[in-house]
Amino acid sequence: MVAYNSEDDHFRDECGIFGVFEHADASALTALGLHALQHRGQEAAGIVSFDGQQFFSERHIGLVGDRFSKPEVIGRLKGNRTIGHVRYATAGGAGIRNVQPLFAEFAGGGFAVAHNGNLTNAQKLQTQLRQQGSIFQSTSDTETIIHLIAMSQAKGIVNRLTEALHKLEGAYSIIALTEKKLVGVRDPLGVRPLVLGMLDGSYVLASESCALDIIGADFVRDIEPGEMVVITERGIASHAPFAPKPSRFCVFEYVYFARPDSMVEGRNVYAVRKAIGAELANESPADVDLVIPVPDSGTPAAIGYAESSGIPFDLGIVRNHYVGRTFIEPTDAIRHMGVKLKHNPNRLLLSGKRVVLVDDSIVRGTTSRMIVQMVREAGATEVHMRIASPPTRDACYYGVDTPQKEHLIAAKNSVGAICETIGADSLGFLSIDGLYRALGEAHRNNDIPQFCDACFTSEYPTPLSDRAENAASHHRLVEVE
Ligand code: SF4
Repeated sequence: MVAYNSEDDHFRDECGIFGVFEHADASALTALGLHALQHRGQEAAGIVSFDGQQFFSERHIGLVGDRFSKPEVIGRLKGNRTIGHVRYATAGGAGIRNVQPLFAEFAGGGFAVAHNGNLTNAQKLQTQLRQQGSIFQSTSDTETIIHLIAMSQAKGIVNRLTEALHKLEGAYSIIALTEKKLVGVRDPLGVRPLVLGMLDGSYVLASESCALDIIGADFVRDIEPGEMVVITERGIASHAPFAPKPSRFCVFEYVYFARPDSMVEGRNVYAVRKAIGAELANESPADVDLVIPVPDSGTPAAIGYAESSGIPFDLGIVRNHYVGRTFIEPTDAIRHMGVKLKHNPNRLLLSGKRVVLVDDSIVRGTTSRMIVQMVREAGATEVHMRIASPPTRDACYYGVDTPQKEHLIAAKNSVGAICETIGADSLGFLSIDGLYRALGEAHRNNDIPQFCDACFTSEYPTPLSDRAENAASHHRLVEVE
């Protein structure tokens, strides 16, 4: 795990992936798909294409639209097969060498890979690979997969990849492009999402269905946990390289990461967030005049809270959507200023009102404190805070930017103490059972949680082999941009 660098005190998904097989506009479609996945990573984007002879790679620091809206850039990405990646680079992990898709030539030919997730034994594997002679070009855990494939003696790319995957621990949704194949695979627990779509008879793979919508592709289905799909000129083949296991999809995708208009694992994200808000209203009612979302991520849950409680919903905080990278700096001074850059109270609405603010989560509590203060200064007479998830008590090791546990306000503080810290009149979190009720599931089945909920419960679904190691120990090159 790398240093937490979120400017708005949220857990932050680190990657989105996309791929198209055999479409005349593959590169342009991939750029559009990545644009729809921009919420999954805003620091860098890349596309690799293949034209039957050669691979072409464009990788850039910045938003998708900064570079991939240019016709000359799309024109350079020749061919009708492409994969792409958006990334949220964090301190120590930034730099062009880590921007995906990663590409390598090995005995089996060219291989490009885009990965969403995090390998929890990458350090251990890299140490072994270095001892066998591997030279790593990036500090990305994804490169481990390339070296494992290159070292494999198995016949054919699918067998090599399968052998590599069996050595991995952690979370991965992967899209890979070879000279003949587009491959999509999810880890055995299906922690991160991956969906299959179809456009004009061509297969499309994407992290979320919203990326299919933007290009007009039909949603076909989710790739199953532990499933590998191999797309060739002959069509699609589904492989099951792992013994079946109960799925442990990331529950935080529903709370915050996924776009509300996406269908994820058979559920509409917006509908789940509204159901979460309704559960929150039942569990933590408030005697107030208005339900106010902390925009935008708190909005669906606030609507659900208002509908369930019968209290009017209103937009008491307005968000500025044009806060770009200029203001995203990991210093406390700028981070504190960031709340005002992003949010402004609607004073006329708030003045003299008792309000409940609904947000999706609290990480360090810094933003919540400033928003509560801002709403009070705008004239609200009471400010009650309701959080549409349980307290985040532990870090994520599965491809999400989170602070170390000691910086999570809920790791060491009671709800009462957090309430005091953020200066609210009352504070309520959704219970873990309430979260599962909103999803229509019991928390546990055969005593196993039905989702990954480790940041709330510390019950990690995979071994965390690298946790004890210093993740930075091998990262000796600091790139200066
Ligand atoms: Fe999602 Fe699990 Fe990570 Fe929490 S710990 S963000 S539930 S993958």
